[in-house]
Amino acid sequence: MTAKLLNGKELAQKKREQLKSDVEALTEHHRQPGLAVILVGEDPASTTYVRSKQKACEQAGIYSVLIKKDDTISEEELLAEIDRLNEDPKIDGILVQLPIPKHISEQAVIERIHPDKDVDGFHPINIGKMMTGEETFLPCTPYGVVEMLKEAKIEIAGKHAVIVGRSNIVGKPVGQLLLNENATVTYCHSRTKNLREMTKQADILIVAIGRPNFIEAADVKPGAVVVDVGINRVDGKLCGDVDFEGVKEVASHLTPVPGGVGPMTITMLLENTVQSARKRV
Ligand code: NDP
Repeated sequence: MTAKLLNGKELAQKKREQLKSDVEALTEHHRQPGLAVILVGEDPASTTYVRSKQKACEQAGIYSVLIKKDDTISEEELLAEIDRLNEDPKIDGILVQLPIPKHISEQAVIERIHPDKDVDGFHPINIGKMMTGEETFLPCTPYGVVEMLKEAKIEIAGKHAVIVGRSNIVGKPVGQLLLNENATVTYCHSRTKNLREMTKQADILIVAIGRPNFIEAADVKPGAVVVDVGINRVDGKLCGDVDFEGVKEVASHLTPVPGGVGPMTITMLLENTVQSARKRV
């Protein structure tokens, strides 16, 4: 078997075209949607992510502001900046690029962003709404994963979804979203015993751990749908958490890295920003 590719790049492009026309209509009839991104310090990976987010906003016609702060900024000053953006009528979404320096509480920052402008979907109120299945901003990577599955018309209800990784930004929420879609969900993590026995039972296997080529063909049930969230750099080349060459011979569907989940993440951020603007106007 050779797996069908779940092409995130293509779907992201299609969604961005649609978003662009939504943004045009909003701008013409009301006002331009706006996203503010705060970057603390000069971490190269964060700087690259922020630049990609800004570029994506520009292409979609979304107004974007980048607020750069020195890594010596105090927690109080950073929270004051968030307060200012919470009040700014031109801003529909606020995002603080993580990680932030250790002397600032990440949780305090996340909780200071008004839930109505929390387009990353990290605020406890929005996480709570996601759990109860209320409409809210969904965290971008998990939201992108579910959109990819739906686009490929993959049945989720009744399927056994195994999630490897339980971070607050990927593993936990992706499992919750699949549960909301009526999957039966198993979480695996670094303390899971017999992890490879678990993954073999998955109809839908989502891997988000940050370990290059961790999941191999023998860990996958023939015909399973495999989503590789991992982004790793090995010898200067990007690769996922799944051994692509091996697993593509076993899985029915598989996401490539790059070109799979990655492009969907920023697209869902744009989607959340537009959704926020729509509610506000
Ligand atoms: P974290 O480091 O926050 O979490 C990693 C998770 O994987 C933890 O739950 C950890 O378990 C688990 N884990 C680590 N090693 C193992 C192992 N050997 N066996 C089983 N479980 C293990 O990572 P993130 O969730 O933030 O990111 C995961 C990956 O996804 C990274 O490669 C990251 O770059 C990528 N990513 C990609 C995005 C995209 O847009 N495509 C967006 C966000 C992340 P425990 O909790 O027990 O420590």
